[in-house]
Amino acid sequence: MRRPQSDARASWEIVRGIVRGMAWLTIAALAGAGGRLAAQGIVDQTVDRAVDRGVAGAPLPAASGAMASAPSTMGRAAPHAPPPSIVLRAARMLDVKTGTVVRHAVVVVTGDTIAAAGADVPVPPRSEVIDLGDAILLPGLIDCHTHLLQNYRGELDGDDPNMLLTVATMTPARRALLGVAMGRQDLEAGITTVRDVGNSGWGGDVALRDAIDSGWVVGPRIIAATRALSDLGGQFGPLAPYAQSLVQQEYDPINGPDDARRAVRQAVYDGADVIKVIVNTPPRVLTVDEMKAIVDEAHRMGKRVAAHATNDIATRTAAEAGVNSIEHGYTISDDALKMMAAKGIYLVPTDYPADFYALALAPATLTPEQRLQRLAGATRFVARSRDRVVRAIKAGVRIAFGSDEYYAAPGRTRGQSSLLTLQAYQEDGMAPLDVIRTATLNAADLIGWGDRLGAIESGKLADIIAVDGDPLRDVKDLQRVRFVMKGGQIVRRDSTAAPRQKAGPSSVGP
Ligand SMILES: [Zn+2]
Repeated sequence: MRRPQSDARASWEIVRGIVRGMAWLTIAALAGAGGRLAAQGIVDQTVDRAVDRGVAGAPLPAASGAMASAPSTMGRAAPHAPPPSIVLRAARMLDVKTGTVVRHAVVVVTGDTIAAAGADVPVPPRSEVIDLGDAILLPGLIDCHTHLLQNYRGELDGDDPNMLLTVATMTPARRALLGVAMGRQDLEAGITTVRDVGNSGWGGDVALRDAIDSGWVVGPRIIAATRALSDLGGQFGPLAPYAQSLVQQEYDPINGPDDARRAVRQAVYDGADVIKVIVNTPPRVLTVDEMKAIVDEAHRMGKRVAAHATNDIATRTAAEAGVNSIEHGYTISDDALKMMAAKGIYLVPTDYPADFYALALAPATLTPEQRLQRLAGATRFVARSRDRVVRAIKAGVRIAFGSDEYYAAPGRTRGQSSLLTLQAYQEDGMAPLDVIRTATLNAADLIGWGDRLGAIESGKLADIIAVDGDPLRDVKDLQRVRFVMKGGQIVRRDSTAAPRQKAGPSSVGP
């Protein structure tokens, strides 16, 4: 979980102190000095009992981590006894570090953590054993580029009208509730952690992250960005002067290095785990000095920087400034790739197969000729994207998985369409094991959770999925997930081989 249990306990101690102080001051004001010592003793006992029972309306954090609405593991933690373990058995388990497949795999999960994992590991007494048969176990997938609080409509044919409609008609609260639906769909597809990089209104993603961490709703672990920093106007199309105040609801526009530092501080104050910056909105592009100020200010506070950069000048600027990841990077020179490799900057290629780009999100009104034209355009675009992935790998640039899915794809859940990006990496020529690493080891490293996520091994958080087939032969088999565990809590458990997952409502959105 994002917040360690000891922190949650510490915050209850603060609540206890505040309530005790308020009650004591009230009594002290009413009673004479002689009665104060006796009164304080009564106050302390009463407050302790009340806070222990959670009279503030919230339960104390459960010992095994809180995902209150996951029914299959509810009630397994007795108040003071160590929780019994859950043991997963499967014919196979992928060791993503070595690339080997462990046969007769056993994973012992205690609380939210993996206690042991390997071939024929002993099963502790009183364990709940779950036999996943012929499936292969993998670490939960990590998507480093999501927009859970957006669900654009293909029939509006473009980002501009969709953004205007979303920001003008949906409050951050409504968008956070949309994010609950999108997050659930990601989680059920095996994506147990996301780095949600903006376009979530002012604070909507932080609210969703905290609701999930508190166990109010079920969803993936979220690394939140709050509003992206950007040039003036954000990524909006042209707006009339009286409509330009909408921009601040979605972006924090900056003007100059000092203002860039202010915006980083604002994002951190608003609850950001990571700083997202839109380096270019053609033809506008931030300066190297502005980008360096952003990176310096963010790193000074222990936050990483994810940079949206799509063209040559933007990718070069971001690399020079030393961001942690370049998102998209559709046009990127070999020089910039060399700089990225030297500085350990990740590339997050938000790629899709050509037919998905061209047709899945197309308006139904297109003529057959228009559809063919779109497909030809998308095929050329995909060929260029493939070339830059190949060059990046050759230059030694590390790759992390990012779907950048923010449209409703008919017939697919958000999670199902997001996994098409992994298929695109494979079609770019990456070996299946390397593709899986982009969504596990590499992604965990990029988001700064490499010590807790990204592999099935003792001491890591128990984020585990099981799929049928052989994803080491074809990563499309990752689309056949039938078991999902996040932080020791089971969120999906199909009794047999994966049936086709029910698609979410394509009309969710503004
Ligand atoms: Zn994006």
